[in-house]
This record gives sequence, structure tokens and C-alpha cells, in this order.
Amino acid sequence: MKNGFDLVGITDIEIPEKIRNSFINWIKNNHHGEMKYMENMEKRLNLKAIWEDVKSVIVVAKNYYKKVQYKNYKISIYALSKDYHKVIKKKLIKIFREFSRKYSFNFKVYVDSGPVLEKVLAQKAGLGWQGKNSLLINPKFGSYIFLAVILVDIELKPDKPFLYDYCGKCNKCIKSCPTGAILENRTIDAKKCISYLTIEYKGENIPIPYKDWIFGCDICQIACPWNTKAKETDWEEFKKLEVLEYSLYELLKLKKEEYDRIFQGMPIKRANFERFKRNILHIMEIDPSSYKH
Ligand code: SF4
Ligand code: SF4
Repeated sequence: MKNGFDLVGITDIEIPEKIRNSFINWIKNNHHGEMKYMENMEKRLNLKAIWEDVKSVIVVAKNYYKKVQYKNYKISIYALSKDYHKVIKKKLIKIFREFSRKYSFNFKVYVDSGPVLEKVLAQKAGLGWQGKNSLLINPKFGSYIFLAVILVDIELKPDKPFLYDYCGKCNKCIKSCPTGAILENRTIDAKKCISYLTIEYKGENIPIPYKDWIFGCDICQIACPWNTKAKETDWEEFKKLEVLEYSLYELLKLKKEEYDRIFQGMPIKRANFERFKRNILHIMEIDPSSYKH
């Protein structure tokens, strides 16, 4: 069952003890910053708390890589296309509606949403290993992949987990991270991560200096040797949209209606208009409180 997806695997519903402890410590140490929804540990560490009837987990992955030419600012590759949450969810619901009718089962779909630990489940389902930059890496596709999780209420034979760690002695991602956000135990201190700061962080001023990135950050993926052979995605929805044709100044001058129109249906709208402008001012080293729109 690939149906246009690049990888698929099956696993059981258990979350390994080591992962449970690592996640609990990550929250205790406040490495999740303002992402309070992450504190819902009960559901993340016990899939039965999400859905009493769940018996197995299917994990799928889709390569979203595309070559991007940047000018004087950068946006994470995944955000330069249609919103993957919607695109992938729509496809999976269609596929699983058909399967569930044929084989009589119920299902729930999560695409980087809801309280599921996608990367952990993906590793258990044999899709790849969790690199030192915390991302799921597949030997063939690298880490430019979207993950989605489907919970089902029937027992399925699990695949073998991915047991190799192909990071070895490499630490290129750690060295490349400009804010020192990558922690020793393959987790990220979100409070220092540009991706978090440009999308989730709600403060008026971003507290850490960095360059270029106005939405998301791909630096630790660009540094990873497993991404050097990444191939272009074959899904039209994830191919490049031309928003990078705007200069940084033009983006800063956008009115709310223009921002809504240009970024309609794209992940960039997750930052909202005010934060998007704040992010631009930050890399221009302008204090948002002193700037008149
Ligand atoms: S996304 Fe950027 S800031 Fe975050 S850990 Fe990777 S390199 Fe560091
Ligand atoms: S850059 Fe090196 S250490 Fe980091 S995730 Fe890639 S292979 Fe692993």
C-alpha cells in the first residue's frame, strides 16, 4: 500500500521506555518553550489515551525535497508549497476510507498534528533512524520527508524497527546550527531553534540573533550528508511556488490582504501576519516596536 507515498511501515502501539523518559525530561527542562500543547504527555506516551480501540499504527512518508534558489532571505523548503497537513490528510482519508470499507476497520489520521510522536513511531515501523538533529532520516530519501500516522483498530503484523544509527561519528548538524539548539540526546531546545522562533514563538521580539530565515530553518538538514542525494519530489502539490520572487522589502510592505492572497493555502500562514512581519524585521535588525507599518 504505497499509493504515491514513498515509504510505509507498520508498528505496534507501545512507546519504548527510553523514549518516554527522554520526552518527560525534555518537557521538565522546558525545552518545548511556549508549546504548551506538548505537555499533554499522557496522550503522547499512551496511544490508548487518544483512542481506546487502537491496535496498530501505520506510518507513511512522502519526499518533499525541491531545489530552491534563495535571494536575500530564506524560507524552509517544506513551506514553499501547499500546506502538507491538508494535502496529505486528504489523500490518506480517501485511501483509508476505501480500505476500511473493504476490510472493516476504523482509523484516525494524524499529519504532524495531534498528540502522536511521529518520528518515534516511524523508527519503530522501520522507516529510518532519528538523527542527531532529531529528524527522521531514511537512507534513500534523507530527512526531507513528511510523516503521517494512521491509527487503526485491527491487529496488523508489525514491520521490523529500524535499528541502525547511520549518524556514526558525524556531528555536522550540531556544528552547523547557528544558535546551538541541538542537544546531546537527539532532541532540540525549541527556545533556541529558528524554526520554533519564527513559527510558534509569540513574543514581540525574537530574543536570539541569526540571519536570513524568515520562516522555518533548514540549516541542520542542509548540513546532513544523507540529504546530498535528495531527489525532487514527484507530487505537484509540493513543487516550488514562486513566492521567493518578492524582495525582502516587498514582503515587509505587504498589506494584510496581500499577505493572505499570496500565502493562501501555504504553511507560512501558520506564523500569522504580525509574526511574519516580526520575523522579517528581526533579520533586518530592526526593533518591531520602533517600526511603523
Ligand atoms: S532548524 Fe535551524 S536552528 Fe533549529 S536545530 Fe536545526 S539548524 Fe538549529
Ligand atoms: S548531520 Fe550527521 S550527525 Fe547530523 S543527522 Fe546528519 S548524519 Fe546524523
